[in-house]
Amino acid sequence: MFCYQCQETLKNKGCTASGICGKSDDTANLQDLLIYILQGISLYATGLKDEEFDVRKYGVFLCQTLFATITNANFDNIKIEELIKKSISLRNCLKDISKVKIEHDAAIYEDNDTENFLTKAINIGILNYSNDEDIRSLKSAILYGVKGLAAYTDHAAVLGFYNNEIFRFMFRSLAAIAKNSSKEELLDILMQTGETCVKAMKLLDTANTSVYGHPEMTKVKIGVRKNPAILISGHDLKDMEELLEQSKESGVDIYTHGEMLPANYYPKFKKYTHLAGNYGGSWWAQNKDFETFNGPILMTTNCIIPVKDSYKNRIFTTGMTGYPNIEHIPDRADGKSKDFSKIISLAQKSLPPREIETGELIGGFAHHQVIKLIDKIVELIKSGEIKRFIVMGGCDGRFAAREYYTVLARKLPKDTIILTAGCAKYRYNKLNLGTIKGIPRVLDAGQCNDCYSLARLCTFLSFDFNKILIFYDLPLSAVGLNQAIRKSGKS
Ligand code: SF4
Repeated sequence: MFCYQCQETLKNKGCTASGICGKSDDTANLQDLLIYILQGISLYATGLKDEEFDVRKYGVFLCQTLFATITNANFDNIKIEELIKKSISLRNCLKDISKVKIEHDAAIYEDNDTENFLTKAINIGILNYSNDEDIRSLKSAILYGVKGLAAYTDHAAVLGFYNNEIFRFMFRSLAAIAKNSSKEELLDILMQTGETCVKAMKLLDTANTSVYGHPEMTKVKIGVRKNPAILISGHDLKDMEELLEQSKESGVDIYTHGEMLPANYYPKFKKYTHLAGNYGGSWWAQNKDFETFNGPILMTTNCIIPVKDSYKNRIFTTGMTGYPNIEHIPDRADGKSKDFSKIISLAQKSLPPREIETGELIGGFAHHQVIKLIDKIVELIKSGEIKRFIVMGGCDGRFAAREYYTVLARKLPKDTIILTAGCAKYRYNKLNLGTIKGIPRVLDAGQCNDCYSLARLCTFLSFDFNKILIFYDLPLSAVGLNQAIRKSGKS
C-alpha cells in the first residue's frame, strides 16, 4: 500500500505497511482500485449531455463512493468490493450512452472481471499516476479536494439539495486525473476545486439551515443524566433527526460525540428534551470515551477509528461508514426513515453513561448568529477591546504536536477572539477563556463544513466601517497545522 492522504501519514511520507488510521493494506489497495474505476466512469460521464445526466444515478453515486474512501470512514473490504462491482456496472452503462471514446492505455477501464480485485489493485495507487512528481502532487491535491467535495455534496443531497454544476465538475476533475493532463491544465482544475468546495459548503449550509434552522448561541452540557443513552457521532444531521424522533418516548437520552456536537446548536434539535448534551472529546478519543459511555454508539459518517472489543457489540455504522463485523444500519428505502429500533432497544437495556466531566460548552456561532451580534462586535473593535480574530479551524489529530493549539489558545492576549469550526475546537473549547463584554473568546461555528460561516464572517470584516475594502488590513490571522508542527519542533 501507499497512502498519504492525511496528515497522520507515517513519518510525514506515506503509510506503506498499514495505515496509522488502522486501514489495512488490502483496504487501501481496494480503495485505490475503486478510485481508478471512478476515473474511468468520469471519462465517460464528461461525454454526457445535460439531459442525459441522471443526478441520482451518476452524481450522488460518485459522491457516496468517494465518501467511502475518505480517512476514517470505511474499513470494510466487503463494502468496498460491493462498490467496485457497482462502479463497473455503472461504467458499462455510461460507456453505452456516452460519446467519449477512451483512447489511451488504461485497460482497467474496460475490465469486467469482478473477481481478483486485490491482484488488480496492487498497481493502481497514486504512485502510478505519473513519473513526474509535480503531476502526481497536482493530481493528489485535486483528488483530496474532490473527496471533500463528495462528502459535503452528499450531506446536502441527503436533505434533498443538489447542484448539478458541482457533480459535473467532480466528473471533469476525475477525468483530468485519468488523462495525460498538463501541469497547467491540472493547476487550473485545482483552482476550480477550491472554488467548487466553497459552492458545496454554501449548498450544505443552505440545506442544513433550511431544514433545521440557523444555529444559535447555545450552552451544551458535558456532564451526564441518569438515563441510559445513545451516543451519536459523525456529520449526518438526517440520521440525528431520525434517531431523535424514534427515541423520544423511549426513556433513552441522546448525547453527541466529536463531529456531532454542533447538532446541539440547531433550533429543530433543541426542541427534543432527551437531547442531553455532548459526551467526551474529539474523534481520536473514541476508544476511551466509548468504553465509559456504556450505551450503544451510532457512527453516521467519519471519523471511526479501530473498534475495541470492549464496545464492539454496541457500536453501529450507517451510511458510507463501515467496519468489519460491526452491525450496519441499512439505508432508507422507499422514502421511509432508517430503522434505529435495534439501537434504541439495546440502549434501554444498558447502564447510563459514566460521568467523565461536568460543566458546559458554548457554541452556535455560525454566520447568522454572528451577524446578529455584529453591531456589538464592531463596537468592540472600534473601542479597541477586540484587537484581533484568530482562525483555528479544521480537523483535530491525535499527535502530541496538536497540543500547540491548546498552549497557543491559553497564551493569546485577552483582547483576541478565536474563530473555529471542526474538531480543532476540542483543543481549546474547554479552557474557559472567558468573554469580551459578553462575546465568548472562542466562537465555534460548528462542523468543519461550517468553515463556510468563518469565510462569510471574514468577508464581512473585509470592509471597513465605511464599506471600503480593507482586505490586507483585516484584524485577522489564520493558524495552520504547519505552524503547529514547526513550533513544536517536529519536522
Ligand atoms: Fe495513513 Fe490512513 Fe492517513 Fe492514509 S488515511 S495516510 S493510511 S493514516
